[in-house]
Amino acid sequence: MKSEKKAGVRPRKLKKVNTVMWAYFCLLGVLLIILIDAVFCILVSSTLENQARDRIISVGGEVQDEISRSDAHLEDRLSRYMSEGITVYVVNQDGLVVIPSDESGLSDERISELKDKLSGQSLKRYITYRSGGRVNYAVKVELNGAENFVLLSYSLDIISRTVGYMQIYLISVSVGVLIFAFVVAYGFSLRLTRGLKDMIDSAEKLSEGDYSVHFHNVDYVELAKLSDNLNQVKDEVKKSGDFQREILANVTHDLKTPLTMIKAYASMIQEISGDDPEKRNRHLQVIIDEADRLTGLVNDVLSVSKVNSNLGKLNVKVFNITDFLYGIINKFGYLQERYGYTFMTDIDANLYTCADEEKIGQVFYNLLSNAVGYTGEDKTVFISLKQSMDGTRIKFSVKDTGNGISEEDMPNIWDRYYRVGETHNRPVKGTGLGLNIVKVILKNHSFDFGVESSVGNGSTFWVDFPSVPSEEK
Ligand code: ADP
Repeated sequence: MKSEKKAGVRPRKLKKVNTVMWAYFCLLGVLLIILIDAVFCILVSSTLENQARDRIISVGGEVQDEISRSDAHLEDRLSRYMSEGITVYVVNQDGLVVIPSDESGLSDERISELKDKLSGQSLKRYITYRSGGRVNYAVKVELNGAENFVLLSYSLDIISRTVGYMQIYLISVSVGVLIFAFVVAYGFSLRLTRGLKDMIDSAEKLSEGDYSVHFHNVDYVELAKLSDNLNQVKDEVKKSGDFQREILANVTHDLKTPLTMIKAYASMIQEISGDDPEKRNRHLQVIIDEADRLTGLVNDVLSVSKVNSNLGKLNVKVFNITDFLYGIINKFGYLQERYGYTFMTDIDANLYTCADEEKIGQVFYNLLSNAVGYTGEDKTVFISLKQSMDGTRIKFSVKDTGNGISEEDMPNIWDRYYRVGETHNRPVKGTGLGLNIVKVILKNHSFDFGVESSVGNGSTFWVDFPSVPSEEK
């Protein structure tokens, strides 16, 4: 579908669903990997550091024992911790390094830091501290009768290096995982939007008038619902299109006959019968009848369009259905006078119902017209309106003595434009729309209705109305 651009309004740049989904997925993946890597490195380095601190504390205890046993091989024994990366220093009160005897590895700053940390500290009470990338253990001990400072130092370089290697390893694994995730996410986003794309293609075809399209998507609940709704919309649009075409075709066809007749008889009056009053009147009567038929046709088409487009819009109210029915029957009075029809009635007095009065009027009018049109030679129509024994329902029925309806035609008579045939000569001409109007109106009201008929025994059309109790009137 093409959208029209409005002058002065910059069209919004639309994004593709799968691109947006993919981008968000990738962003999420990158953030997750960074988070996992960071948490992992922090955890590993802090765990290793804690282990180093625990080890240095336990070595510190052993060193104190060694010093208390002080002998000539003390330095050798203390040097064995070097293999674990722990260096042991013994510093005397004057700040001179006693062990190791070569006085290597301890700067003046570290010696003064050690002395500071241990000032005020009692003998054998150790402290640990971190400085210059090392974990330190410091304690005051007595050696050869004098107070000395012992420092155990563990360089965190090993831990930093281990964590560094791990980071490189993690980053390379993460990059691999991310590349894999990007590809999977791209495939997934394509798969998800494929369903949408199919629907868009179908919708485009539909907009071009192709009603054979079918929206289907069974992979995802939301899309499945959307496709169901679109299928319904498509059916409705198709129905309404068919309806318009059907109306147009039938109406043009039905208009043609009376118009041809009117033209033909008007010409006849002009050319032949104009001076012969008897012939002229006969021909004029044909013109009047055909004009009436045209009026009926136009009214029916208007009604059928109205009831179909106004589905559900009912102006419901309580009214006296007895009086209302008498009013409609009176409209058929001219048939009694002019054509000798008889209306036999059996109508209960003062019955009330709740419905759309105007539309029920159409129902009565159409059913009575049909009864008049299709009744037998006796030209008799029976009309009854009776309340049920329990007073809750009112049954309307109209019976004629005509040929009846065959079983085969019975299911179709309520369809638009269904006609069994124009074999009868009727004062009220039909259009094939009457029963359809009746059906739509009564269905909208949810009233039961039907017909009982068999060939040769006439037909009885009936409607079941609710009876409204007197207090609601
Ligand atoms: P129409 O204008 O042709 O009467 P309707 O919709 O009112 O159209 O009726 C549809 C068809 O149902 C009619 O053409 C007729 O064949 C049949 N029908 C309706 N009412 C009667 C009836 N009382 N007796 C026999 N056939 C009937």
